[in-house]
Amino acid sequence: MAEEVFSQRTTTCGALTKADNGRHVVLNGWVHRDRNHGALHFINLRDRYGITQVVVDDDASAELQAVANELHLEYCIAVTGFVRLRPDSMVNPEMSTGEIEVKAESIEILSKCAPLPFQIDDGKETREDLRLKYRYLDLRSQGMQQRLRLRHEFILSCRNFLASRGFLEIETPTLIKSTPEGARDFLVPSRVYPGKFYALPQSPQLLKQILMVGGMDKYFQIARCYRDEDARGDRQLEFTQLDLEMSFVKRDDVLSLMEELFNHVFKDVMDYELPVHFRRLSYHDALNTYGCDKPDLRFDVPLSDVNDLAEQSTFSTFKEIVAKGGFVKALCAPRTEGVDFSRKYITELEEAAKIYGAQGLAWIKVGADRSLSGGVSKFFTGLEEALLKRVDAKEGDLILFVAHESWKKCCASLSAVRTKLGKDLHLIRKGFEFCWIIDFPLFEYNEDEGHWEAAHHMFSMPQAEYLDTLESDPGSVKGDLYDLVLNGYEVASGSIRIHDVELQKRIFRICNFEDQEAEERFGFLLNAFRYGPPPHGGIAPGVDRMVMIMSEQTSIHEVIAFPKNTAAVSPMDDSPSQVDQKQLDELHLIINYPKPKD
Ligand code: ASP
Repeated sequence: MAEEVFSQRTTTCGALTKADNGRHVVLNGWVHRDRNHGALHFINLRDRYGITQVVVDDDASAELQAVANELHLEYCIAVTGFVRLRPDSMVNPEMSTGEIEVKAESIEILSKCAPLPFQIDDGKETREDLRLKYRYLDLRSQGMQQRLRLRHEFILSCRNFLASRGFLEIETPTLIKSTPEGARDFLVPSRVYPGKFYALPQSPQLLKQILMVGGMDKYFQIARCYRDEDARGDRQLEFTQLDLEMSFVKRDDVLSLMEELFNHVFKDVMDYELPVHFRRLSYHDALNTYGCDKPDLRFDVPLSDVNDLAEQSTFSTFKEIVAKGGFVKALCAPRTEGVDFSRKYITELEEAAKIYGAQGLAWIKVGADRSLSGGVSKFFTGLEEALLKRVDAKEGDLILFVAHESWKKCCASLSAVRTKLGKDLHLIRKGFEFCWIIDFPLFEYNEDEGHWEAAHHMFSMPQAEYLDTLESDPGSVKGDLYDLVLNGYEVASGSIRIHDVELQKRIFRICNFEDQEAEERFGFLLNAFRYGPPPHGGIAPGVDRMVMIMSEQTSIHEVIAFPKNTAAVSPMDDSPSQVDQKQLDELHLIINYPKPKD
């Protein structure tokens, strides 16, 4: 790709090759390394495009020698000189510019650099808060530069694909009406209307639906979303979605479009071929087979139902759970070179299971001649072959069981074991495994608040066969909802939407919004639905997560230029911070500080 260099330089630090031998050049960049052999200086000059070796020869003028002596790491400099071939012994095949060097004629120091708080590399050794405090230095590292470039290319490729398919990129406001969408809103006080607030959008959900009522037909936006949630893991208060919505579509139209989009983007950005269609699993089958609704399909280790075998066994714990209508499930950890299924390791697996509600983790080892030993093996006499067949176990494998009255807890506990095994036993294949999870329940019961609420959001269409039983049996209703999962992460959620006022009101009521409150909060949507709304649906892949996975990172901080830390603080500018009394007065706000906890 041609790199535009404007007037201050003739080329970038990644561009020169032996074809440029003899060329007179001006390079701008930062001192990446500076080796000094007496009067001979080797300066690695770096910019976003690469590194070029600059040499100040021992015959250089006194003036040039003086400047070279003054240089330190990360000084920003301009170098003027001639390209020459490196001696054969100094050719570096690892560098794109490794065949040449620039013999400096003059060096100008454009700006100096204070002593560095950390070495500019890939930051792995540096505490994250220090990296975030000096993010401008961290951004100079090769890793951050590559990842932000990948992010740019990902977004550009999505844009190009969607534009080629007739989508319009439309911006929606960031100051909107506070409308509950599942999380807590960030509020912005109105100066002009004391006591009134705007909210920052949790997503452009309602606005994109209203764009469909407005006949826009196919919309997308690289949308910033804001959710005021407690800091946890690498969750960010603000994140970016590729938000899209389409009119006159059914679920499979949305899924096909996304498959085409990601096929295009992965090929375009990473030269990676995805399968034309992604595997589809119902929510029930995903839980039953992998224990969770975002399974990592880069490794197998499925869960098996063993209720019938547990019943026939002589293990009273299992038998009791089955008698109570509970569930016993098992999985098989494959024998792995270098991994010992010791008691200590099994206890570690058990700890992982217990976090999700398991009371314990029963186990059996498979020995030579497919004999069972240890753990609960003695209770399975006579059932050996049936068990081995059910979980597909071979010599040296370890069979693990969880029994629980709750199917969900049984699945979730074994899922945690499966995930840990995937990592510890190095079962995870390289690459990208997408899958769709479909047929989600529409509602979840909120135990704390004692009412049903939307599992995704309140605007998703129930599947047609449940329309008569929405109120009488909300728990069994399936929605026209879909999640896209990649390598064990949920990377997108979407649904076919409700476009009927009466149906929308029924959903609001089930979610505890009586008609009057629903009118106050969502009246604008209900009004829009009175004017010929088209059937519509959409989805919103998370950009941060997608780029994180594509760049093989485990934290979204690595793919965001200026993220908040895990305590929701930006160490660079110290936000959130206090504001002046005058600002508060203008906004008619009085701070009611929380009482200190005793
Ligand atoms: N607005 C939804 C979300 O942010 C995505 C969608 O349904 O399109 O999860």
